[in-house]
Amino acid sequence: MAPAVPPSRRKPITIGRSIPSSAIFRFRLFCWDERNHEGHHEVCDLIDLHSHTHFSDGTSSPEELIGDALAARLEALSITDHDTFEGYEAAVPIARAAGLKLIRGIELSTRYNGSSIHLLAYFIGQEPGQDFVSWLGQLQETRRDRNRRLIDKLRQYGVELTLEEVEQKGRSLTGRPHFARVMVEKGYVPDMETAFREYLDESARAYVERQDPQLSQSIERVRQAGGIPSLAHPVRIFRNDYGKVDALISEMIPHGLTAIEAFHSDHKPGDVSHYLEVAHRYGLAITGGSDFHGANKPRIQLGRGYAGNLAIPYQVLDDLMAAH
Ligand SMILES: [Zn+2]
Ligand SMILES: [Zn+2]
Repeated sequence: MAPAVPPSRRKPITIGRSIPSSAIFRFRLFCWDERNHEGHHEVCDLIDLHSHTHFSDGTSSPEELIGDALAARLEALSITDHDTFEGYEAAVPIARAAGLKLIRGIELSTRYNGSSIHLLAYFIGQEPGQDFVSWLGQLQETRRDRNRRLIDKLRQYGVELTLEEVEQKGRSLTGRPHFARVMVEKGYVPDMETAFREYLDESARAYVERQDPQLSQSIERVRQAGGIPSLAHPVRIFRNDYGKVDALISEMIPHGLTAIEAFHSDHKPGDVSHYLEVAHRYGLAITGGSDFHGANKPRIQLGRGYAGNLAIPYQVLDDLMAAH
């Protein structure tokens, strides 16, 4: 949905005016004045390409998320739940009725050597293809299998939980935090922290490893399904060691990496500038989003990040569609 305001009334604002980078000047936010019964206010062509519903680890229903996107005056939204399209699918008719452009997205948990790396994927077709759907089914099965093994191991230490109990908390994304919550509720531990320290942490006695797919293989799967893979929040990889992250990006390009998430709530202005420059250097597209999780990360606002540290222009989506 392009902004309904004629171009002559829009004024361009360069994103991150304080950021001294030539790469960034490609991206301009268009804003215009709007008048209603409440008075005069500025509206901009903002989008958000990274958000979660309660079908993964967010707290909003698809209805609530669409409502938030309309309240934030977003021009486009992508729902990128972990390993599932369920939240997106449920949101499609609601977004259509509201006239909001909704982009199909997903966030995959992958690994690279010992590190856990998140990969976003966009525009996987309306019919994602049997190969991709069954691969997704395998990933969910891997997660359930890990959970079953964790239940067995906890039983050895006298902690009795059932798969049904923990899955009630976590739906398709049931993981260790949900185990911790049930352990607190059943009185095995006084708090979540103790549950992790004594049983669930990587160094704790009941820890069970998960078998996530390789990053390179996941990128290839997304491309085969007709999607655009984007490396999520690069600042969280290798403790944001720019040299190591840049090397990883260049290593993944032959596998089909097409984009990186340059705009993200956790990115400081210097990080945005750096990752825009990296994208420019390697000819990659960029993506951006707040990583909204509702009440699970209450300080992050949809479209706006932490206290308005985020402003992603519609042009990012135009460029991404052109790269598709
Ligand atoms: Zn993530
Ligand atoms: Zn996320």
